[in-house]
This record gives sequence, C-alpha cells and structure tokens, in this order.
Amino acid sequence: MSSKAPARKFGAAAARKEAAASALADGATAPGTDGAPAPREHTVDEIAEKVSAAILEHRLAPGTKLGEDRLATIFATSRAKVREVLARLAHEQIVELIPQRGAFVAKPTIEQAQDVFEARRLIEPGVLRRLIATLNDAKHQRLLSHLGLEADARARDDKRAIVRLSGEFHVLLAELAGNSALARTMRELSALTCLIISLYDAPTATSCRADEHEEIVAAVKRGDAKRAESLMLQHLDHIAQSLKLDSDLEDADLESIFA
Ligand SMILES: [Zn+2]
Repeated sequence: MSSKAPARKFGAAAARKEAAASALADGATAPGTDGAPAPREHTVDEIAEKVSAAILEHRLAPGTKLGEDRLATIFATSRAKVREVLARLAHEQIVELIPQRGAFVAKPTIEQAQDVFEARRLIEPGVLRRLIATLNDAKHQRLLSHLGLEADARARDDKRAIVRLSGEFHVLLAELAGNSALARTMRELSALTCLIISLYDAPTATSCRADEHEEIVAAVKRGDAKRAESLMLQHLDHIAQSLKLDSDLEDADLESIFA
C-alpha cells in the first residue's frame, strides 16, 4: 500500500543494483528496506492500484505530470504497460490524457465539481433506501467495522487513511446496497470527490465528518429511510460547503483561465 518514500532516498541501494530502476521499484513496494529481494515486475493491476492510491490519498496533487518513462522506471516495467495503466485511470477519470503532452493527474473544474455533488445528491439517498430494504446482520457488521477503521485512522491522525476511508465508506454503502451499476458509479464519484477535495479544500480540513457517518449508519440500522436520506443530503452539503466552489475572484483558478 505505502509507496510514500521518495525514490531519491534509495541512491545507495541503486549503486548496488544493476539499474536505478530496480532501486526505485524497491522503494515503491518496500520503503526503508535496504537490501530487499530483487524486484519482480508489477502487474498492470498493481501499478494502477498504487498510482490510484497515491492520487486518492493526496500524495500526488491534481495537475501532476505522470511521465511514462519515469513510471516505467519506478515500477521496473515497460512503457506499454504504463500506458495501459494510464488509459485505465483515464477511464476512471482520475487521470487526464492530453494529446502531445502526456498524462496528468486530473484537475476537475469547479463546474465538474458541482456536477459531481449534484450526481451524489441524486444517487446516494437511493443507495440508502436500497440498503435499508436489504439490510441484514452481516451488512450491518461490515458498516460497523468500517466505522471502526475510520475511528482508528482519526485517533492516529493518519490523514491519508482518513481521506481514503471517508471515500470508501460511501462506496461500501453502494456495494452493500447490492446494485453493481450504482456501486461502480459511486466508486467513480468518490474518486472524483477525493480529487475535488484535494483541489478546492482548505488545507486543514478533512473530507467527511466521522460522527455523520455514524449517524447515517444508526439511521440505516433503525430502518429510518427518511432520516438516513436527510442525514446523507446534509452530509453532502457539509462536504460541498467546506470547499471553495463558489469561484469568487480571490479563488479564481488562474491555471484554467490562462491554459
Ligand atoms: Zn462521508
């Protein structure tokens, strides 16, 4: 999971390896393990997962260039494989492919951000209705254990985990609701929300308030669809309100204006 160690820390290891690429790949999989076993080639799935996690945990900022050569070196793989990874992430909309310029971490505009929240307001109350109609003990336990993970991350003040788990809570609701199309859509919207938070949030804020997730789960458990839906809408409002999506002049996105 963690590929946070910057590659440059592994300069010494690189000297002992055939190529810098090997050390970088070690760094990508096992940071801090000097003298790790020779790296094996990563699969497309693994690389996509690592790049995606780095984006969603805000280790890679929106607009960051994702050079094919650099990624191929870091993951000790071919450019063809890297292109496959980037195409997949572009399909998930968290990477943008720009002709002649290459791949970049996507940078949703304010308009796109507003569209994402509108879609979530339409979809998530429906997700909760479906979840309540099909709730059983096993599903409730999954929800409780997820809340436990979120609470642990907050207790550790692990910001990366908090951001990731906040998004995953909403995907989990959709998965447990048992509609695969809804779950897939929620996965996309949740990933985009992560990028939007990274772009438009105050640096100190976090995405979802933990107590609000708990209240939603409690209403779901009681079978109170009306209450669960209104809590969800309030929750989405709180997230949207914590962002600077009103595009007042001070917060104008100069990059897109002059692009
Ligand atoms: Zn949330």
